[in-house]
Amino acid sequence: MGMQSNRDTVFGTKASVDRVEDQGVVDGKCVVCGAQILLTGIGRSIWDDGTSVGSGEVRTVAEAYCPNCDEKPELPDHGTPIFKSEIVRLAAE
Ligand SMILES: [Zn+2]
Repeated sequence: MGMQSNRDTVFGTKASVDRVEDQGVVDGKCVVCGAQILLTGIGRSIWDDGTSVGSGEVRTVAEAYCPNCDEKPELPDHGTPIFKSEIVRLAAE
């Protein structure tokens, strides 16, 4: 975390980040098998919570997963909306 430019900012879905963290992650690696946690992302419209509108802002939002312990997540169509409360800012590499 810390100060980062927008260009380097990576967002993940809260659901996927919570899931891999529940499995256990240390230094970006799965504690079960030791593999690097991977991200697969797509551009999504960011909606304000409690509304069905956004600013038109589209950001890459990633699904986090372990390549060994998890199936590769299926991504929604490009532009599929997601609420701000459903994404988390991830540290840039
Ligand atoms: Zn694993």
